[in-house]
Amino acid sequence: MNRPLPTPIAIDGPAASGKSTLGMELAERFGYAFLDTGLMYRAVTLAAVRAGIPAEDKAARRFVRTLDMRVEATTTTRIFLGNEDVTGRLRDPEVEANVSLYSALPSIRDAMVRKQRDIAAEGFAVLAGRDIGTVVLPDAPLKFYLEASEESRAERRSRQASGEWGQAQRDADARKDIALRDSIDSTRKVAPLRPAADAIIIDTTRLTLDQVLDLALEKVACASD
Ligand code: C5P
Repeated sequence: MNRPLPTPIAIDGPAASGKSTLGMELAERFGYAFLDTGLMYRAVTLAAVRAGIPAEDKAARRFVRTLDMRVEATTTTRIFLGNEDVTGRLRDPEVEANVSLYSALPSIRDAMVRKQRDIAAEGFAVLAGRDIGTVVLPDAPLKFYLEASEESRAERRSRQASGEWGQAQRDADARKDIALRDSIDSTRKVAPLRPAADAIIIDTTRLTLDQVLDLALEKVACASD
């Protein structure tokens, strides 16, 4: 390799397309920070729901100004609200059901994008989300956009979930949730989900994690040849 490793690396794509898994693998391999920006939107949502803030831009604008949120991006991402590590709460049903509504609000996006750019500017980083290649870091030297069929994404998500319901119910719930979030995320006015013109698109439907990783590593190598 002649050129330095590309940084920052952007990974976008719909829910459960494998962005975080790929991002963490790349971060570990290259010693980069990994920022899962979905967790940031989830944490704001948790805080807003707890505080009874409606999903409406004017109320959210006042609320984000006072929000005490700390993001720790090492090879994984952890989020703190005040002194509380909320990382383990961010897939709770009340977050899952509301995150796309709060994420569509410009005031919330402005605050999160600012934090994301600050973290990316600190050094070598991989950022995963919906708008990293298009809005947050349009000049990133390497951008991936992962996609996969809705069915395979729902299967992956429900395998990660556990609970009192049976597998069939979990599959159906995951599919409904993913379809609804994708539809809100891709039709919103601000920073809708879509690939950047210069993103490398990888369809992960029929690929194993190792295959996705190999493809991504090839592209990293090309970017530093
Ligand atoms: O990536 P994850 O599925 O955890 O993201 C949760 C939600 O956060 C998404 O459905 C989307 O509404 C929002 N999000 C976003 N922009 C990002 C990352 C996530 O709007 N960069």
